[in-house]
Amino acid sequence: MCCNNITVRFPAQAEFIANAKKHRRLGHSFLIVSDQEAARTDFAKFLAMTVCCTGSSADGRPCGKCPQCEKIAKGSYEEMIELFPTGKTRQIPVGESVNPEPDTLRWFDDRLFLSGVAGKKIGLIHDADRLNDKSQNALLKTLEEPPEDCAIALITANPSILLPTIRSRCQTITLLANRVEFDFPGIDRLVAVLSDLWCGSPRGLSLGGPCASRLIAAANALQDDARTETELRWKPRMDKAKELELSAAELKNIEKKFEAAAAGLYLKYRKSFLEAIYTFTAQLALVAAGTAADDLPNPELLAGLKTAPTAGEIDRAAAFSNLAADLADNLNYMVNEELAFRSFALDAALL
Ligand SMILES: [Zn+2]
Repeated sequence: MCCNNITVRFPAQAEFIANAKKHRRLGHSFLIVSDQEAARTDFAKFLAMTVCCTGSSADGRPCGKCPQCEKIAKGSYEEMIELFPTGKTRQIPVGESVNPEPDTLRWFDDRLFLSGVAGKKIGLIHDADRLNDKSQNALLKTLEEPPEDCAIALITANPSILLPTIRSRCQTITLLANRVEFDFPGIDRLVAVLSDLWCGSPRGLSLGGPCASRLIAAANALQDDARTETELRWKPRMDKAKELELSAAELKNIEKKFEAAAAGLYLKYRKSFLEAIYTFTAQLALVAAGTAADDLPNPELLAGLKTAPTAGEIDRAAAFSNLAADLADNLNYMVNEELAFRSFALDAALL
């Protein structure tokens, strides 16, 4: 059964949703982000059950037994409306205003606004990054004034493609994989900067400026760290090469391999560095939503925080985590790495 599975695989995120339902503050719009397709779709089903369940359960989790839960599990719930990209280009087009074709945003909208017969409605937009500009603008209007008794979830691996105005209207649920090892030197330095960005006061430029510089320094240090570590690993090989009195060409070849190894290790460090930033911020959002530190995949990242995030800081934590997602995307496209780190730190210091 999908629910049990989800609560085991993503206990913190499941708790986040269940807690919100229990305290009657379940939002109307969600953004489910994960790079694993199964995780995204399974979690969307869990969310649908939590929203629509009519059974009673004290902890806010779906009962799994009421008609709504059973039908959602089987995929036959009348009020669960799903939208998928179609066609060769795999787009989600906006569709006509009158009698829109199936699989268009307006068709989805129409069905959400029809009064339901079976209880609460849930709209799921799969691969929401395939919504084109027109569709996103139309969706924005729906998110601004959602139909009654209805929740909408956008499901994607690429949230940065969505308009910031759409993202900011949604509660972001990041499905962090299970525990990740952050195995680069300088993780402590990075965590210290992130903690300061979150807790530091007064907020603003005087906080963001120095944090930006420290962040950039930490990122730049990865190059040297990777080199030093590679030298260490290669030392026996290099010593041997010297003993053997190799030809210039052979030496050059070894040098080339060494450079490739150092570059490879640097990329590994950098990926881990960015993941650590994202995991740190996503976990803040989870804690703000009531998740116990022990249920986090990497609680050690938050161990040094002066004060734990509170329920009143949910939006701020989600915004921080959105900035981290933007940062990762910017670094994939932008040439100027320093600028990306700087704007991340300055924006975070203003939250
Ligand atoms: Zn139920």
